[in-house]
Amino acid sequence: MRVFKFGGASVKDAAGIKNVYSVLQQVGYEDVLVIVSAMGKTTNALEEVIKNYFDKSLELNSSVQEVKKYHNQILMDLFEDENNEVFAAVNTQFADLEYFLAHNKSPNYNFVYDQIVSYGELISTTILSNFMTFMGIKTQWLDVRNFIKTDATYRDAEVDWELTQKNISKNIKRKILNITQGFLGSDENNFTTTLGREGSDYTAAIFAYCLNAESVTIWKDVPGVMNADPRYFENASLLNQISYREAIELAFYGASVIHPKTLQPLQKKEIPLYVKSFINPLLKGTAVSKGVDLEPYLPCFIVKRNQLLISLSSIDFSFIMEENISEIFGLFHQYKLKVNLIQNSAISFSVCVEDKFGNFNDCNAILSKKFKVDFTESVTLYTIRHFNEQAAQTVEDNKTVLLKQVSRETMQIVTKEN
Ligand code: ASP
Ligand code: MG
Repeated sequence: MRVFKFGGASVKDAAGIKNVYSVLQQVGYEDVLVIVSAMGKTTNALEEVIKNYFDKSLELNSSVQEVKKYHNQILMDLFEDENNEVFAAVNTQFADLEYFLAHNKSPNYNFVYDQIVSYGELISTTILSNFMTFMGIKTQWLDVRNFIKTDATYRDAEVDWELTQKNISKNIKRKILNITQGFLGSDENNFTTTLGREGSDYTAAIFAYCLNAESVTIWKDVPGVMNADPRYFENASLLNQISYREAIELAFYGASVIHPKTLQPLQKKEIPLYVKSFINPLLKGTAVSKGVDLEPYLPCFIVKRNQLLISLSSIDFSFIMEENISEIFGLFHQYKLKVNLIQNSAISFSVCVEDKFGNFNDCNAILSKKFKVDFTESVTLYTIRHFNEQAAQTVEDNKTVLLKQVSRETMQIVTKEN
């Protein structure tokens, strides 16, 4: 079996859905399981609904109507005939969502979040599978919540592999086109859970693992994985092959390639992962698989903007040692500052961190009692895997280098744009 994943951008409108059909026509749809995300920016729109719900905002109803209108337009563009049963099916799903909003009693934000946000995927798969049937492909719509079982950590659920394996082995029909939701699962009490934002790739990996699939393909609007973001680098090239290990390294340094969580189950069974273009589905794209680390062997650039470079030094010229470092990291952890680079000398300690939640000021108030704290805001962290002189030059040109760190395969450079 082959597992395909189509993300939100690939199904953002009627043309996108039709294109999924065209991709399947070209690459085949027998013995295929398709995992689909919510359409376009629906997950964000539903997060807005959730916010309005908890704020008791007057905008609640209109935010729901907006999501409805968006999907209705896609339905009209695809089916025209309002008597097609897909209209009723999608209507029922919206009615269920509205019923939940009117009757829910749980004050648990994360629980409520999952119950609401899941409609994005439930609706997108309903539309897609109805369209495939409409076009004459024998399709089975599956409710992923009957397959992927998780604990009750809403918004970041942990998969129960044993139960999930059992459900998948028993209940998936081969030989036909199966379509199901990414991102979702269900807990012991059958309440909906989610696997974390952008979790649909992970869903594909879970199914592939449990099905001993032949491969996973992630269909994207780019030709595959590039060695650099073409928006920032001239001469970005397509990578044909990346080993699992190298892909995990790239993901660790922040490449938006593929999440390590997605790679682990695939690597365990050596199931290849392809990243391909949904515009040119017959091109080879990138394979993440067993084999050479990187082909072609090129420096890979990863850019993280909006970082904070913090230098801590002891007030009394004493060394910064294990005890201080463990305390400093304890604080970073507590304030959710993500550390992306570390460098230390005898009396000073520098880190490049990401302050996603705007906690640095609070953290700094505590740090400043014990250390002399210097920091620079809005710096950029460049990581070059398999660096060479020329690659480093490209990064350093016209910039002020604040810090540089080199290990065998990786160079990291913190810069301030001039
Ligand atoms: N729809 C979810 C999200 O936007 C899951 C996904 O797309 O992978 O986060
Ligand atoms: Mg998405």
